[in-house]
Amino acid sequence: MLKRRLGRTNFETSVVGFGGIPILHRPKEEAVKVVRRAIEMGVNFIDTANSYGDSENKIGEAIKGIREQLFISTKSQFRTGKEVKESIEESLRRLAIEKIDIIFIHSVDSEEELEHRLKEGVLETMKEARQAGKVDYIGISGHNNKVLVKAIKTGEFDAIIATYNLTNDDGNRELFPLTRELDVGVIVMKPLVGGYLAVPPEAVQFRVEDKATSTAEASLRFVLSNPYITTVIPGMGTIEEVEEDVPLGYIPQKMQPSEVKELQERAKEVGYTFCQGCGYCLSKCPQGIDIQGVFRLLVFHQQYGMKEWSERVYHENHEARVSLCDECQSCMEVCPTQLDIPAKLREATAILESR
Ligand code: SF4
Ligand code: SF4
Repeated sequence: MLKRRLGRTNFETSVVGFGGIPILHRPKEEAVKVVRRAIEMGVNFIDTANSYGDSENKIGEAIKGIREQLFISTKSQFRTGKEVKESIEESLRRLAIEKIDIIFIHSVDSEEELEHRLKEGVLETMKEARQAGKVDYIGISGHNNKVLVKAIKTGEFDAIIATYNLTNDDGNRELFPLTRELDVGVIVMKPLVGGYLAVPPEAVQFRVEDKATSTAEASLRFVLSNPYITTVIPGMGTIEEVEEDVPLGYIPQKMQPSEVKELQERAKEVGYTFCQGCGYCLSKCPQGIDIQGVFRLLVFHQQYGMKEWSERVYHENHEARVSLCDECQSCMEVCPTQLDIPAKLREATAILESR
């Protein structure tokens, strides 16, 4: 497995890491086998989060006895110091480890949210945990590159988790060069556009050098061919997925600009109908609809089989506001993927309201 240095942490990270969401819906015994297979095949970076249901517990079981060779990353989504402290303790317990290698402030998508997490005890609590030896490094994850740029300029973060894929290469403009300058590691999530490129409709089969190739493979090769990126963490829920994704980390991936252009054109056919989670529309909706939150639930519903959970969360947190959408289209003015947001919200409602 090829390795790259994870910024100032100095850890030599496998270029393909393990994304820990999909094991959530696998029975424990199978999930453990999936994680172990990935490790056996050379993966040494395992990513999970306090909010990913029992993902931490399953990973904890899978890494028993081999923890030392791994870099364990988890996240805290909480907004107060007290909750963050509790979540760190809980993650340590569930993962059954003495120390978390890197803890991320989870999903920060607006400047206001960044301010909040920097000032309201969240970062402070993580630093205290580091001082107490419960955490080694601190990172931040998010979908809005402008916010991540602002975050790493504070000098507080050792790594970021950002989106980058065939339909969204925005990171190359400012964020990734800055990570190089500041020696911050770059972990890429959503390499398959939240799973959509992993389930290719007929129309999106790629041909590379005259060979048919799966969209998942083409997308991962694209991400790995970018030298700014330390590791990519595709979600893997089955041994088959592990055996498809991990071997790509053994071959130095290079892509000709013409090949990239062709793949991007083809990916747009599918990818541009999905939300990238950049958060630009967050402040634009006069009705206060959490547009990306709704679209994320749709992904969980359709791609990860989390039907009951996403329907419940939709009902409790979003349904009332979404019903206020008057199709004013202000959100569409800022959407980089030119989504027809009101139409997509209607589609989400039809699917998520089915309880
Ligand atoms: S179209 Fe709907 S979702 Fe978009 S800004 Fe207007 S009210 Fe909000
Ligand atoms: S709907 Fe568009 S602007 Fe809003 S988060 Fe998704 S991709 Fe970004």
